[in-house]
Amino acid sequence: MTRSRRIASNLRDLRNAASQLPDAVVLIDQQQQIRWFNHAAEALLGLRRPQDRGVLLQQRMAGSELAPWLRDGAHEPLNDATAPGQADSQLNVSMLPFGDHEQLLLARDISHLNRLEQIRRDFVANVSHELRTPLTVIHGYLELIDPEDVPELAPVLSEMRAQSKRMGQIVEDLLTLSRLETQHQVADERVPMASLLATVRKEAEALSQGRHRILLESTAEADLLGSPKDLHSALSNLVSNAVRYTPAGGSITIRWQREADGAVYSVSDTGFGIPATHLARLTERFYRISSSRSRDSGGTGLGLSIVKHVLNLHQAQLQIESAPGVGSTFACHFGHARLLTAGGSDEG
Ligand code: ADP
Repeated sequence: MTRSRRIASNLRDLRNAASQLPDAVVLIDQQQQIRWFNHAAEALLGLRRPQDRGVLLQQRMAGSELAPWLRDGAHEPLNDATAPGQADSQLNVSMLPFGDHEQLLLARDISHLNRLEQIRRDFVANVSHELRTPLTVIHGYLELIDPEDVPELAPVLSEMRAQSKRMGQIVEDLLTLSRLETQHQVADERVPMASLLATVRKEAEALSQGRHRILLESTAEADLLGSPKDLHSALSNLVSNAVRYTPAGGSITIRWQREADGAVYSVSDTGFGIPATHLARLTERFYRISSSRSRDSGGTGLGLSIVKHVLNLHQAQLQIESAPGVGSTFACHFGHARLLTAGGSDEG
């Protein structure tokens, strides 16, 4: 075989391989026109050959979720877009630079993964729901037994009560997480921060029982816009962690302050701190640095997961800074769109 025939044959093989890929591949030239696409692009993106060759991709995708993404420059990958050629499929789409001035659009069908994720979510929600009633019954009966009537069983009874309470809390937290995961937006209600901060502080004092100094610095003079119940749960979770992971004698400072891009709610403690290697994974379900410390302090391992979901629903970011043996700061950054002048109107 001559050299040029070998190259031509290799090219054909490469093209055949690309055309059989399960992911959609579209080659776009400098003028944003479609130059080549594989079979999966026909199925997933609805492209037709030969008539779609030379057509502007953005024009061809008009009316689909890809159109605004392409118009804005397709810088970041687009997740969970409905497939233009297959309405019951979802795609993850990205644009890669290719050659000198060309680009490759890659689209992967993630419907199967989404279905598995849905099965996982339903399973967790159903199991939690099914456990709720038997746990309530067990807990109720345990509360009915007076330890003084059976002194020899008193320590056992107290342990059984504590554990059934803990299981109840895990089930409630799992149900909260399931609800937050399936929710895409929150009710836009005014959340008066003065009273929420006062409540969170009272809860911290009740949990600490005088073992810590608890300070509140509130200078933002802003209320939040969102779900009062979920924001209360997130903000109080951070305070409860600060109390539980700070030895007696330490201090905890709750702050609500303005910053350039909005306002920040933060909780600083002088507690055990967290080694840097754990920081990235702290918001995963059941992720704990020390499970015995978490368990002993009444934790379920789900608190920070809930915090992260609540903040996502409010387009807010969680930032964690910590040094072992020194303490930690958990900060929630809220944008202007989520702020209301305290007692006044929308700032966003
Ligand atoms: P848990 O119910 O175990 O407290 P969380 O999701 O609230 O679960 O927190 C996850 C882990 O992060 C905890 O087990 C603990 O190891 C660590 N952590 C959370 N907050 C703090 C804090 N303020 N100081 C030190 N460690 C913390």
